[in-house]
Amino acid sequence: MEPPMRIAMVSEHASPLAALGGEDAGGQNAHVAQLAAALALQGHDVRVYTRRDDAHAPVAVPAGPGVEVVHVPAGPPEPLPKDALPPFMPVFARWLVGHWRADGWLPTAVHAHFWMSGLAAVDAARPLNLPVVLTYHALGSVKRRHQGTRDTSPADRIDRERRLGRTVDRVVVQCRDEVDELVRLGVPPARLTLIPSGVDERRFHPDGPAAPRATGRPRVLSVGRLVERKGFADLVHAMRDIPDAECVIVGGPLGSELDAHPYARELRELAARLGLADRVTLVGGIATDAMPDWYRSADVLAAAPWYEPFGLTPIEAMACGVPVVGTAVGGLRDTVHNAVTGHLVPPRDPGALAAALRDLLAHPARRDAYALAARNRVVRRYSWRRAASDHAALYAAVRRPSTVTAQREAVVR
Ligand code: UDP
Repeated sequence: MEPPMRIAMVSEHASPLAALGGEDAGGQNAHVAQLAAALALQGHDVRVYTRRDDAHAPVAVPAGPGVEVVHVPAGPPEPLPKDALPPFMPVFARWLVGHWRADGWLPTAVHAHFWMSGLAAVDAARPLNLPVVLTYHALGSVKRRHQGTRDTSPADRIDRERRLGRTVDRVVVQCRDEVDELVRLGVPPARLTLIPSGVDERRFHPDGPAAPRATGRPRVLSVGRLVERKGFADLVHAMRDIPDAECVIVGGPLGSELDAHPYARELRELAARLGLADRVTLVGGIATDAMPDWYRSADVLAAAPWYEPFGLTPIEAMACGVPVVGTAVGGLRDTVHNAVTGHLVPPRDPGALAAALRDLLAHPARRDAYALAARNRVVRRYSWRRAASDHAALYAAVRRPSTVTAQREAVVR
């Protein structure tokens, strides 16, 4: 294990304290929260810097032993869509420099999450000669390819991502697909380190309570932010060819607010049009703590994104002993072992999705075997303990000798 370090995480839009499942709050928030906690458990001092989006939020909030979330004043203290945040990154950076100088808390490494955090981190680290590690979480080039003119990202995102990749000390990639993307983008391969995200395998566990099931039908569960690219519409189409099963979709705003959510309404209308209103249920966003209960209530998880930078929900389901039928994109190509822990099917292909789900639902013994293999795979490969150790080794590898000296002096003083 690495000796204790000070780690500054910058996660401009994704606070580890946010409720998940909403438009801009999902995997990145969970990743930052869990990584910070796992690093702290290994003795490191972690601060997570996120944009202040609530005028009443205190500047610093303890978030478990060894972790502090710091709300950085940059832009109006109210929720803003993440695509509106780039103009506030220079202010974010200046605030960080002032804060580290004033506090004498000089980080060993600055770890930025998402490209905009990368901009702030690089600007803040430069005058203090601190190393910067970047995890993109999602890439503008991929989003542009899939969303075309509907992509609302700032026009210079792809170019900035390329430049960041060439500037920072190290880039953490989460799956092999991302390596290919970044090399194509022009980021030097030597700068990339593959560390998959993780799951808390003690919390996400096959044993424990399960969310209730109103019907006797087999349950196909799907979990995610209610955005088009998660492929929920493909799943609803697939349900036509899985006659006996129910489909439960978790994510989005609270259940009571789903009626006001355009995409939730669209999905419900689609289900009604296909004669599936009684077999497709949207339950809305669920508190993170209750997620294991929902996975445990399912016979199979369907994860049908068109693209997916990593995808936590498949490994959360696997940790709970639930096999996954997923699309062969992004992180799922690494996490789902085809015909061992579930099945991979082409994206945007409701027919293939239906066939794989139907097949698995018809074979309980195979489901049990996949469930066991899925749990084992997660425990072996995707524990936060492993992810934290790998990150700590990376921070130690990029740390500047001057920082070590400065920190030692600070301790002596
Ligand atoms: N999640 C949650 N409540 C919900 C929906 C999702 O807590 O109602 C969590 C889910 O358990 C997972 C994260 O949000 O940890 C989604 O991460 P993923 O990587 O699958 O997707 P992303 O949001 O990053 O696109």
